[in-house]
Amino acid sequence: MNARDGSARLVVAIDGPSGSGKSSVSKEVARRFGLAYLDTGAMYRAVTWWCLDSGVSFDDHEAVVAATKTVPLEMGTDPDEERILVNGEDVRSAIRGDLVTDNVSRVSTIVPAREVLVRMQQDIIRGSGFRIVAEGRDITTVVAPDADVRILLTASEAARMARRGRQLGAAASSNLEAQVVGRDAKDATVVDFMNAQDGVYLLDSSELTMEQTVQGVIDLVIRATDTTHEGTAAAPDETGADAPEEAR
Ligand code: C5P
Repeated sequence: MNARDGSARLVVAIDGPSGSGKSSVSKEVARRFGLAYLDTGAMYRAVTWWCLDSGVSFDDHEAVVAATKTVPLEMGTDPDEERILVNGEDVRSAIRGDLVTDNVSRVSTIVPAREVLVRMQQDIIRGSGFRIVAEGRDITTVVAPDADVRILLTASEAARMARRGRQLGAAASSNLEAQVVGRDAKDATVVDFMNAQDGVYLLDSSELTMEQTVQGVIDLVIRATDTTHEGTAAAPDETGADAPEEAR
């Protein structure tokens, strides 16, 4: 397989904590390879917004699972045009607000709700003809463990806080630390996105610019999929990324 072949299957799975830069990086990698793009975090956010909008209590797990099963969600997969509709309403900015951000872990830590969303995500990956960059917390392990390339994108806590602060600009709320570190701690109770599992490349973006991180991912995709130069792939330290766990 060759990553530059525009018709071959190419599923790129990218996980990482909040502020690791995975959304911007994943979108750009999708553009460069002509792939679809799936933001799975936006799906958890959309369900959270739907629960808030329809008065479903997060303490009522059965009701949250029922809402997850029936949410009238339309997810776009064009990296150039974000499209997220719930019941026909454009929720792109609403799902990034503090209310959703502060409550999203209350949905994502309900295991049966996750199972529903994982199936929806797998359907979207299939619907893309298996040509997609999917990013989130459990893509490399649960949603697409058979992805062609699996990457865990990390960054130091300081780098992640600084990035989130810059992203939000004036809108950065005073509870930024709770939103970044606290949310990760809650999320990590149900999925491990801090340690690379077997076969997953670890890419630390703390000291990298966005463009360097994109290039690091592109190098990993090419290395993992280029079967025409078997045995001549770049050594792990040439891209700044660690080899998959199993190769160590
Ligand atoms: O990536 P983002 O920060 O938008 O994700 C929002 C939330 O969705 C995360 O804090 C986490 O609770 C949940 N999530 C998840 N599994 C994924 C993607 C996101 O649990 N694959």
